Amino acid sequence: MKYINLVEVYQKLDSTTKRLEKTYFISELLRKTPVEDLSRITLLLQGKIFPPWDERKIGVASRMVLKAINVSSGLSVKEIEDEWKKTGDLGKTAENLIQKKKQATLFSSDLSVSKVFDNLRKLATLEGLGSVDQKVKLISELLTSAKPIEARYIVRNVLEDLRVGVGAGSLRDAIAWAFFPKVSGIFFKCDKCNNYMPNITKCLECNEAIENKFNKEIEKFDEKKVLKLKSIDELKKADIKKYDFILCNDENLAREAYNYFVNAVQGAYDVANDFSVVAEKAKVEGIKGLMSVGLEPGRPVKVMLAIKVKDIKEGFERVGKPADIEYKLDGFRLQIHKKDNEIKLFTRRLENVTKQFPDVVDYVKHNIKGDSFIIDSEGVGFSPKTKKYLPFQSISQRIKRKYDIENMAKEFPVELNVFDVIYYNGKNMIKTPFIERRNIIEKIVKPAERKIVYVKNLITSDEKEVLKFYKESLKRGNEGIMFKTLDAVYKPGARVGHMVKFKPIMDTLDLVIVGAEWGEGKRSDWLSSFTLACIDENNNFLEIGKVGTGIKEKSELGVSFSQLTEELKPLIISEKGKSVIVKPEIVVEINYEEIQKSQTYSSGYALRFPRLINLRLERSAEECSTLNMVEEFYEGQRHRK
Ligand code: ATP
Repeated sequence: MKYINLVEVYQKLDSTTKRLEKTYFISELLRKTPVEDLSRITLLLQGKIFPPWDERKIGVASRMVLKAINVSSGLSVKEIEDEWKKTGDLGKTAENLIQKKKQATLFSSDLSVSKVFDNLRKLATLEGLGSVDQKVKLISELLTSAKPIEARYIVRNVLEDLRVGVGAGSLRDAIAWAFFPKVSGIFFKCDKCNNYMPNITKCLECNEAIENKFNKEIEKFDEKKVLKLKSIDELKKADIKKYDFILCNDENLAREAYNYFVNAVQGAYDVANDFSVVAEKAKVEGIKGLMSVGLEPGRPVKVMLAIKVKDIKEGFERVGKPADIEYKLDGFRLQIHKKDNEIKLFTRRLENVTKQFPDVVDYVKHNIKGDSFIIDSEGVGFSPKTKKYLPFQSISQRIKRKYDIENMAKEFPVELNVFDVIYYNGKNMIKTPFIERRNIIEKIVKPAERKIVYVKNLITSDEKEVLKFYKESLKRGNEGIMFKTLDAVYKPGARVGHMVKFKPIMDTLDLVIVGAEWGEGKRSDWLSSFTLACIDENNNFLEIGKVGTGIKEKSELGVSFSQLTEELKPLIISEKGKSVIVKPEIVVEINYEEIQKSQTYSSGYALRFPRLINLRLERSAEECSTLNMVEEFYEGQRHRK
């Protein structure tokens, strides 16, 4: 497949913020992509070349791209920098400069998706002596053959800064649209060009107005390719490949049929964590293929998340009685995999942190029985002197630390608290009732205080008993308690109502830093005021305010200016005067007095007296607080007044 086919879709995605339109463009590309390119295309659509949990990164900085433009265009660094200042965007800069150059030389050859992808992957593997020159060569090789518009996106691919707004939700739906029949009432046929469109007013292929009336389509199909659906069971038994369209007489059934496909894609994604695997399965093996995606020790699974409740009563209402009540520890999630005697640790963001925690690997090796498993747990820091638990923040630095690891482990020891098992000795256990999984944990974990234990629990129906347990939990330095339904399944990736949390703290927001300002005077080496953003459903980051409070001058006291500067410096995309724009990657937890409506920021909201309370390195930017959440909190505080 030609790279230009992908670039054309990038442009279409850039041209709309509407989710249905984006999903349509993605689904059409996926549908037309030959199987051998499907995995690459699916990753490149997300601006990636590895699945999200893979620790490999392209890791190329803007300066290197600048050098590559210099090599491929023959223009001086100064000329390129001038253009960069004008556009503020290195991708656009490459496009403009190559445009000028191409007019002179008329040179252009067809770049393939695989060529671009292979060069990007090579960039990620080169290290050591001479690697800089080799990397520049790999990028400039692509730019030399690129059409101007291709150059724009090659640069963005290289910098892993695509910004076309492809969220997991759109990609999931697009896979369902591409590889499964369209369903009546969800899709509508364009009278002019005969393409199926989602519920929009104008055809995205020919611009004709579309009448979106339920079942207006009935007369239009090749009978053989239409499944006239009476019940959802019929769909589950049908040979879906045979059909182009599913016709339902009832709108609810139509929605159910559509959800059946979308949920199959989502279910496979929650387990595989890689849309490229999911798209291939859907195309080649259909629904059965998606359902066959299983757990594999070594490949991380999305963790199950909890809903918050306001009191103990609501806790029981949600999970039922009796329930399993556990300490909610203030640490960080660790998903532990064992296979062929190798142990791997993943964070909640599915980052591989095995190297950072040799102490934990050691405990797992010696204190958990079994040949293969996937275990869910919380790593909690404690003081080596007093042995008391410490808040997450005090050990968070261990997660990213790449050097001096042994000393760090001594200085900031971690106790592993196991609370779930989802795969054991070859058996997938996500459908096994929770209480049985808990019993297995108690059998396979050999507890050793301040090394590895299973989470303290209580099985009860008694609210008073829970209150006592809750107080005891807080006294021990924990965050609160969890309620868990005894016979619940484990749902990868879902925020579920059968595992709920109860804790005393107010609603804080997890926001992404998208910009900052260099400080003044003695703070001039530090970034000081940080622009914060939440995320909308299309993965756009929307600004909501600035924070400068709560950040310490000295690292010993908590999150410091120098720590934030160190984290953000490699992410700087552009600078103007004292202001910098950074790649949205760093998430911080923000406390505030109130959320207000505001015209100043793109989210439409602003925070009154924001204060930084935590750096959340375990969260990805996509996992930050959503605009919906901000709206909910805003409404919630109005009701409290
Ligand atoms: P929070 O800020 O409250 O931790 P969150 O969005 O990070 O919220 P939630 O799913 O809401 O995560 O809360 C569950 C988290 O609590 C888990 O990800 C896990 O890290 C932690 N945790 C601590 N103790 C337990 C426990 N006993 N069972 C399950 N999760 C626990």
